[in-house]
Amino acid sequence: MRKIFVTGGCGFIGSNFVLEQIRKCNQVVNLDKITYSGNLDNLKEIELNPNYHFVQGDICSQSIVSEILQKFDIDWVVNFAAESHVDNSISGPEIFIKTNINGVFSMLTSSLEYWKKLQGNKKDNFRFLHVSTDEVYGSLNKSDPKFNEETSYKPNSPYSASKAASDHLVRAWHKTYGLPTLTTNCSNNFGPRQHKEKLIPTVIFSCLNDKPIPIYGNGKNIRDWIYVEDHCNGVELALKKGRVGESYCFGGDAEKENIEIVTMICEILDDLKPRSDRKSYKEQISFVADRLGHDLRYAIDDNKAKNELGFSLSKNFKERLKETVNWYIK
Ligand code: NAD
Repeated sequence: MRKIFVTGGCGFIGSNFVLEQIRKCNQVVNLDKITYSGNLDNLKEIELNPNYHFVQGDICSQSIVSEILQKFDIDWVVNFAAESHVDNSISGPEIFIKTNINGVFSMLTSSLEYWKKLQGNKKDNFRFLHVSTDEVYGSLNKSDPKFNEETSYKPNSPYSASKAASDHLVRAWHKTYGLPTLTTNCSNNFGPRQHKEKLIPTVIFSCLNDKPIPIYGNGKNIRDWIYVEDHCNGVELALKKGRVGESYCFGGDAEKENIEIVTMICEILDDLKPRSDRKSYKEQISFVADRLGHDLRYAIDDNKAKNELGFSLSKNFKERLKETVNWYIK
């Protein structure tokens, strides 16, 4: 049994990770501030499980972080906590600096202090894994090669700049102090428990509530989509098999234009839950003013994760999208 300290476990990806680790009989302590994007209901099914412990608090508080590390005798730290929505980072960047940069500094400082006092196997096996994004690499043109771990950082939004800064801190804490860190950079996730503000839930809720489906610009921006369980599996593989100090990219092998995703969701819903007038949900698509500094394309080459960690995808994109739509309908 591993003792895992997860931050941001009430959010989208964190909650999927926590559920899986509890299913595997590991012990999980979840530190979450419960911001607007944290949802206690995401983990309702395990709230009474003796292996699960919830602490409401801020990763910026070194005293809370240190207390958890010691009290629960932690083996692995997995940092999901972040402000995660690009649009919010454009309208209000300050909290992104606090949580995504100062918060990671606090996590690293407390983890280093804790790790230095460990001994033997416990010290050798300790890991600090920081969950980051492909957005740190900037934007690709259509014909550019995909991002990989060697791609230089060129973040374009306050969100991606704050994540890039935190990735650099993690790297420095390994190089300078020897903390056994790992960083994972993943493409766009989809699946159950995502906040309504993100593209896929927005499209589904707009369809089902007879609202316009907003698409930025001309809908031609390209994202690579990964099912959230596959990402969580990648994180676990990195903890078990990753070389300390390294970063690993995870992708879903599903590069799609936004308009393509929206059309696919409309077609799935036309089939599963047809509109009362029998017209397609595509009728509700509505193009809106583009996001400032909107990156054109993200794409991931995850050969390093495949070769070193044995990372693979569980099912194809279409099947997973259908399952996801069904989950939100329920
Ligand atoms: P989310 O917004 O759904 O969840 C974030 C969680 O962190 C929430 O539960 C929130 O309450 C908590 N939180 C926020 N500030 C906190 C603080 N100061 N202290 C403690 N808890 C705090 O985000 P998500 O989509 O689940 O993303 C999780 C991580 O994965 C983030 O670090 C994000 O950058 C990264 N990531 C996300 C995606 C994606 O497509 N969603 C892709 C790649 C990487």
